[in-house]
Amino acid sequence: MDPSALHRAFLTHLCQTSPDPIGLDVASAEGCTITDSAGRRYLDFISGIGVANVGHRHPAVLAAIREQLDRYLHVMVYGEYVLTPQVTLVQQLAEIAPPPLSVTYLTNSGTEAVEGALKTARKFTRRTTYVAFDRSYHGDTYGAMSVMGRPEWRAPYEPLVPGVRFLPWNDPARLEGPDGIDDRVAAVIMEPIQAEGGVRLPTADFVRAVRTRCTAVGALLLMDEVVTGFGRTGRFFAVEHWGVTPDILILAKAMGGGLPLGGFLGRPDVMAVLSRDPPLSHLTTFGGHPLSCAAGLASLRVILDHRLASAAADTGARLQAALNTRVGLGGLTAVRGLGLLIGMEFETAAHCARFVERCRMAGLLLGWTLHEDRVVRLAPPLVLSADEMEEGLNRMERALR
Ligand code: PMP
Repeated sequence: MDPSALHRAFLTHLCQTSPDPIGLDVASAEGCTITDSAGRRYLDFISGIGVANVGHRHPAVLAAIREQLDRYLHVMVYGEYVLTPQVTLVQQLAEIAPPPLSVTYLTNSGTEAVEGALKTARKFTRRTTYVAFDRSYHGDTYGAMSVMGRPEWRAPYEPLVPGVRFLPWNDPARLEGPDGIDDRVAAVIMEPIQAEGGVRLPTADFVRAVRTRCTAVGALLLMDEVVTGFGRTGRFFAVEHWGVTPDILILAKAMGGGLPLGGFLGRPDVMAVLSRDPPLSHLTTFGGHPLSCAAGLASLRVILDHRLASAAADTGARLQAALNTRVGLGGLTAVRGLGLLIGMEFETAAHCARFVERCRMAGLLLGWTLHEDRVVRLAPPLVLSADEMEEGLNRMERALR
């Protein structure tokens, strides 16, 4: 199809989710680079929003997909048959996760993993109230949207799941107050770093206070590591930064090495409720697809063997330090983050939008955050080389000037 007809069909027949889509016409992607149909190469500093941790089309991931597609594709996934790619992957995750988290339910996406974790918490505790935090993002299905900390995003879809309390971020005093975390709460759901909320980091005291309060009242702590997991923040899981063990870790994005895959990984006693009272009450036709698990397993091995979490810590620290010297340019007011999840905050939304657009014109892809239009998020592949980082910095510098 000629490019203008393709673009017209894109706008007409693909359901649009914003008034002015970027419209990048992707021809190929490799490592940290995306090439468009005109042959223009872009450095990818967003990675499909934190998916391509091992880079696009990592050879080990491609090889694992090829090997699996010669065996079988879909048969039946939800725990009835023994599928080697699934079992090997969840066994590896159990070795990496903080004990006693060792049992994984596999899904296709992050939002489904959130749904499953929320349902599991209700079934385990027999309570119905949830606590979430202002400016959180956990996905767009009804359950996940019900714990989204942005009233204007929830409004068009109400009524949602009832009984959700929202607390302010980083305010330990409010955890115990009225409508805080009490013995009516089934679960508290939180992100280790609020990515869509503007790359907002919690204090260590806050994360530990949430854990302590959950334990005191018997509420489960669900940690949404959809963005932060798989090495992104400089540790395999971001909770490791604070030495806090949740009851359930929620995973997706980078988990499938570029194919759709998510899951929630919990305490064995908690996860056991899914097989009884009644059994078969939480199922999936495609979640944990063998092809996705094979790709995910290969990607996981790359992350571990090439120590990509510590690479993210090093590259991220250098990138943040360099960006900090640019504060003051082009309306840039602050830089923050952990590993290769970095937020750049601007004076105004207009400064921010202009920066993103200029970067794209200079051949660098990045994206702002859903709940904070003054913040741009950087989430490049963890395999970003020193040269690619320098080149990205040069392009950002030009965009800021
Ligand atoms: N949780 C968090 C923290 C997310 O950022 C996202 C997606 N951006 C989700 C859950 C939902 O994941 P998915 O889009 O795979 O459903």
